[in-house]
Amino acid sequence: MANLTIHSKRTICAAHFLKNYEGNCGNIHGHNWDIEVWITKKSVSKVDEVYFGKTEGMLFDFRAVKEICERLDHKQLNDLLDFNSTAENLSIYITKEIVNKFSVMERQGGLIVKTRVCEKGENWSEYSLDSDELRDEKE
Ligand SMILES: [Zn+2]
Repeated sequence: MANLTIHSKRTICAAHFLKNYEGNCGNIHGHNWDIEVWITKKSVSKVDEVYFGKTEGMLFDFRAVKEICERLDHKQLNDLLDFNSTAENLSIYITKEIVNKFSVMERQGGLIVKTRVCEKGENWSEYSLDSDELRDEKE
């Protein structure tokens, strides 16, 4: 079975503080976050006519990753997001933003979207979502 994976890496700089956290991360501070996204199309041969014919050979437009990252870049994340901006939550948020760029039909074709959010090159969180598990997800 053939799978096709693309990868995109961006770096953003942003400020935040962790809510309800006792320690330095509870104070406002900044990070350079490396954000990496992998998008895998499963069983490419099964769907390539429908999928790639429509998109002229692109699985996903890398500009969309750039746009999502630019929304967060040079921002105070607590002002922007309605959740605590831990690496874990950011990896989930970015993954879902990317999944939402795909149509229902594209998702049904079999996708895995994985996002890694890395703080300072030391600590990272990785979240992956398989479209086969999306049936229970809200649109
Ligand atoms: Zn932090």
